[in-house]
Amino acid sequence: MNARSPTLRLSLGLVALSCTILLSLDLLGIAPAGTEATLRERTQIVDGLAQQVAAALSGDDRAALRRALGFAVQRHDEVLSAGLRSHEGRLLLSTPEHAQLWQPDDPVRSSPTHARVALSSNGRGWGSLEVRFDDMASRGVLEAIWERPIVRLTLLLGVLGFVAYLLYLRRTLRHLDPSAVVPARVQAALDVMVEGVLLLDEQERVVLANAAFERRTGYPISSLLGRPASSLPWQIPGSAEPATSLPWIRAIRDSEAPPDVPLALEHRDTGEQHSFMVKGAPVLDGWHRAKGAIATFDDVTELERRTAELQLALAQLEKSQHEIRLQNQELETLARQDPLTGVSNRRHLLASAEPLFTDARARARGLCCVMVDIDHFKAVNDTHGHATGDRVIQHVAEAMTSLVPSSDLVCRYGGEEFLAVLPGADAAAAAAAADRLRSRIDSPGFARIRISASFGVSTIVDGAETFADLINQADAALYASKQRGRNRVTRYDDLDPETLG
Ligand code: GH3
Ligand code: MG
Ligand code: MG
Repeated sequence: MNARSPTLRLSLGLVALSCTILLSLDLLGIAPAGTEATLRERTQIVDGLAQQVAAALSGDDRAALRRALGFAVQRHDEVLSAGLRSHEGRLLLSTPEHAQLWQPDDPVRSSPTHARVALSSNGRGWGSLEVRFDDMASRGVLEAIWERPIVRLTLLLGVLGFVAYLLYLRRTLRHLDPSAVVPARVQAALDVMVEGVLLLDEQERVVLANAAFERRTGYPISSLLGRPASSLPWQIPGSAEPATSLPWIRAIRDSEAPPDVPLALEHRDTGEQHSFMVKGAPVLDGWHRAKGAIATFDDVTELERRTAELQLALAQLEKSQHEIRLQNQELETLARQDPLTGVSNRRHLLASAEPLFTDARARARGLCCVMVDIDHFKAVNDTHGHATGDRVIQHVAEAMTSLVPSSDLVCRYGGEEFLAVLPGADAAAAAAAADRLRSRIDSPGFARIRISASFGVSTIVDGAETFADLINQADAALYASKQRGRNRVTRYDDLDPETLG
C-alpha cells in the first residue's frame, strides 16, 4: 500500500462523516425538506396568480384574466392548467383541458396537486381560482430523488469535501512537524555534529534533520520533514546519473546496516555537486524489526577535490619525468650519433672500441681497423651538388655497417671518411670483407651515381701499442691505397716498412 493511502482513507472517512451528519439533520427535519420546499414554491405561484387575477377582476378585464392564466401554465412546468370558477360552481374561464384535469379528491380543501384560492370582487365572494399542479409522485424515482435538495447537497458535499479534505490533509500531514516530539536538547546535540544526519521513519520519511545536513545540501530542515529521503535528487558522485543504492532503504529493509555508500547531491542554491560517504543504520524495536533508520552524511567533497588535485599533480610529475627521460635518451643519442648518417661519431667509437682493444690485447685475440675514404669526393660535390654529396655519404655509411657486428663499431671519422672496428677478425678476413664492400660501392646503381672508395686495413697483431696506433696504421694503409690509384684495399702489414719512414 502506498504512502498516501492513510491520507486518502482519512479524507474518505471525513466525507462519510460529513454526509452522515447532513442526512441526520435531514431526518431530524433541520435540513430543508424537498416536499415542503415544493409546496412553498407552489403556494407562491398560486398567490402570485391570485393577485394578478384579482387586479384583472377589479378592472373587469377579461383578456387580462385569460393572459394571466395562460402565462401561469406556460411559465411553470409543474402548472398543468388553471381556471376561474363562480361560487355556483360554473367554470367561467380556464386554460384548455382544465375542466378535464380538475378532478380534486377533496371538493373543498386544497391539496399539493389541486390548489384553490377564494376570490372576491367589490367586497363580495365571487368565486375561486383553481390551479392544477402535476403529481409529484408521478415523476421517476431517480428524478424524484434528484429533485430533493438534500440529495444534491450531499452529493456536492461528498465530491467537493473529498477533494478539499484530501488536499488539506496532505498539506497538513506534510507540514506537521514530527520533530516537535523531539526534545530540544536532542536537536541541539545533533546540530553541533559536523556530519549531516537524517532520522527516518519506516517509510523513510524524514522525521528529523540536523543543521549540518541543511548547510551542506541547501535544503531547509522544514522542507525535508515528512518527505521521503529518496525524493531528493541523489546522484552517483562525479556524474549526473541518479543513484539507485540508498543505504537507509537497505537498512530498513534488511534490519541491519549495509556497507557505506558514496552519494552525491547538488546543493539546492549553488547547484554545486557535494559528495558524501553515507552510512545507514536501522532503528530497531524490541523484536529486532526496523522502525526506521538513521542516515549520516560525511561530506567528502573537499577531500575528493584535494585527492583529484594530488592525482593530477602526480600525473603531471610522471609525465614530465617521462619527458625528461625521453629528452635524456635523445641527448644521449645525439651525443654518440653522427647527425647526417646515424652511425657513431668519432668520440663514441673511440670510447666504445678502447676497451675492446685493451681486452683483445690482454687475451691475445684478433681485432682489426678498416679506414675508408671516398675517392674524388670533391668532384661529386662539384658535379652533382652538396646535397647529392650528402646522400652519397649516407649510402656509404649504411654499407659500412655490413662490416661490423654492431652499428656502434662504425663511425664517421671525418667529412667522407669512415672507420670500422672488427673485433675477433684477422687481417685476411677484414681485408676480404673490405674488398667485398669496395666492389659493392664500385658497382652501378650504388648511391645512384658512380663512385668508389679506398680502404686501409690494420690488425692488432701488427704491434700497435694503443688503439690510436691501430687507427694510424689503417690510415697509412688507406693512404697507400690512394697512392696506388684508389678503389682498392691495402693491408698495413703488406706495406713496405721503408716507404713508411
Ligand atoms: P681523394 O680521392 O683524394 O680523397 O679526393 P677527394 O676529392 O675525396 O679529397 P678529400 O678527401 O680531401 O675531400 C674531401 C671533400 O669532402 C672536401 C669536402 O668538400 C667534402 N666534404 C666533407 N664533408 C662533407 C659533407 O658533410 N658533405 C658533403 N657533401 N661534402 C663534404
Ligand atoms: Mg678525405
Ligand atoms: Mg676523398
